[in-house]
Amino acid sequence: MVKKVAEGVISLFFPAECKICRRSLEPLNRSFICTSCWSKVKWLMPPYCSRCSKPFPPSDVLGESSCLLCEECRTEPALYKKLLVPTLYEGVMKEAIHLLKYGRKKGIFLEIKKILRKYLEQNFLSFSELDEIIPIPLHRKKLKQRGFNQAYLLAHFISGFSKLKLVDRSLLRIRETRPQIKLNKRERAANLKDAFQVKNGTSFRGKAVLLVDDVYTTGATLREAARLLRTFETREIYVLTLARAP
Ligand SMILES: [Zn+2]
Ligand SMILES: [Zn+2]
Repeated sequence: MVKKVAEGVISLFFPAECKICRRSLEPLNRSFICTSCWSKVKWLMPPYCSRCSKPFPPSDVLGESSCLLCEECRTEPALYKKLLVPTLYEGVMKEAIHLLKYGRKKGIFLEIKKILRKYLEQNFLSFSELDEIIPIPLHRKKLKQRGFNQAYLLAHFISGFSKLKLVDRSLLRIRETRPQIKLNKRERAANLKDAFQVKNGTSFRGKAVLLVDDVYTTGATLREAARLLRTFETREIYVLTLARAP
């Protein structure tokens, strides 16, 4: 209580500042980032790969871009049908996700919900084609450390928006994995081997599911989860992330 009052007094004289540009936050802004910085979030714009949404340089467009696949999607097996993703993982969005995950600034999620809502309202996927939403799980140790799973927050919001069933206890992360960032392709695959386990696998038979995570960098994590789910005869797998590496 005393701490709350003290914080109130402090914020009166020293208004909270934007975690990115350091200018004062607007009153009532609880998202840690000012409106001006949020407006700089980069949305994914065509042309991009029709499966993994990898952006193509504008000069690469050859007429009808909606059916173009990137090099990797042309050579790798299709483990999921399509990546749905509103923004690019750079600049403000990259910092926002870091503040949310590592700075535990959950207020960031207030603005992220608006971005997701705007994206979902444009109806990039008909929800009637889907049966269930599954967040990519964190290992229980990491969940305990962080206190929340950002993929769950996203999936929970989408589930509320779309009225689709949220299934968060069937896909489990049973092995701790190293951060993928500095690993090459082969190391990533080894790192993720047997990382996930599925409970009640038969319940996925014939289902179309949407796998949700916060960021798509190489896609290795989502592909591994999709690969495992497919062994339970899912009908279709879509993936959705908040942001994608450019
Ligand atoms: Zn700012
Ligand atoms: Zn692709």
